[in-house]
Amino acid sequence: MDYLPRVELQKLQLRRLRDMVQRAWERVPLFRARLEERGLGPECIQSLEDLAKLPFSVKSDLRDHYPFGLFASPMREIVRLHASSGTTGKPIVVAYTQADVEVWSSVMARCFAAYGLFTGGLGAHYGVERLGATVIPTSGGNTDRQIMVICDFCVTAICCTPSYFLHLVDRAEQLGVDLRKAPIRAGVFGAEPWTEGMRRHIEEAAGIKAFDIYGLSEIIGPGVGIECVHQDGLHIFEDHFYPEIIDPETEQPLPDGVEGELVLTTLSKQAMPMIRYRTRDISAVMSGVCRCGRTLRRIRRIGRRSDDMLIIRGVNVFPSQIEAALLQVEGTLPHYQIVLTREHGLDRMEVQVEVTAGMFSDTVGAMESFQRKLADIMERALQIRVQITLVEPHTLQRSEGKARRILDRRVGVPSKPDLGLLGSRSS
Ligand SMILES: [Zn+2]
Repeated sequence: MDYLPRVELQKLQLRRLRDMVQRAWERVPLFRARLEERGLGPECIQSLEDLAKLPFSVKSDLRDHYPFGLFASPMREIVRLHASSGTTGKPIVVAYTQADVEVWSSVMARCFAAYGLFTGGLGAHYGVERLGATVIPTSGGNTDRQIMVICDFCVTAICCTPSYFLHLVDRAEQLGVDLRKAPIRAGVFGAEPWTEGMRRHIEEAAGIKAFDIYGLSEIIGPGVGIECVHQDGLHIFEDHFYPEIIDPETEQPLPDGVEGELVLTTLSKQAMPMIRYRTRDISAVMSGVCRCGRTLRRIRRIGRRSDDMLIIRGVNVFPSQIEAALLQVEGTLPHYQIVLTREHGLDRMEVQVEVTAGMFSDTVGAMESFQRKLADIMERALQIRVQITLVEPHTLQRSEGKARRILDRRVGVPSKPDLGLLGSRSS
């Protein structure tokens, strides 16, 4: 499937798209109502371009139609439910039939074949087994034991969030274990945005190749796309997931190469089909064929989400810009925390960053000038002055799942801009 001629792939996509829209129209009252509102029916899909006529789906649809409203299969055919830990109100629950689980396994197997590994538990588990490799399922935490298992069982690849892997590398160093000498040679990291600077740090510190994987539970879970060995964009498994990039303001589809919001349509999902799901992730479709020969289109790595944006004194700031700026500078470590406060009505942003032991033991003068240098680089990148605080290695709280890098202590200020349709990622 990864190497199918585009014409063949498009034929398959259109057949699946028509079946999926038919299924959603027959079985999901919400989708039917939205199509009928626009005077549309399943027969309106005559080509792949017709997808753009269909209405979008958003995260709040899942909450509003909890528990069974979006299910397109009866419970007797549903073999699995996954629920996200909702912070407020009802959780986001997604459903899978046996065939959906098969699809998830197969896309995860294709991920690992493209090389790699990640999180999201069961999909990864099945994918590894399907490929004929051995899987050691562990959850986050218990890091000392994980390091022991990696060494004792000659683990060659790992799947987790990039921030948890950083923590693991750190801890290994404290225990006197050099991961660069261990058999581990690849990592598949996802579920949070991470930068190229972070990738370089991880690859050097652990002596591995680090691959980016993408997915979200509303679509299937991890395994919607992954980087191949060339690490140049993520191939989307287009025989199951149809990507579009739209302008989030005008909601119009954008041409290849132009950055916008990623919108995904499931082509084969049975239990919970999704039509034009707004991911809030910012990316672009990359044109041109990848050197690996896969015909699947690629999307640019996702560095930010439209709802990640912080507004500091009226300036839009994305946490990924801060990470990218910090990691340009020799002497910083990829452990940082952003603290927002408000003094006399003015927003203040402090970035606490760990520096190497050598840097920290340097003279006060050297540290002050380093601090100034970081503040200058940050100002150029963000257009606002930021207070930099250098801290010793291993000072900041480590993440055992997704990193929580922002502490918003501003009172009465929404931490995120009101885009109307906010929600946090649950994959
Ligand atoms: Zn490729």
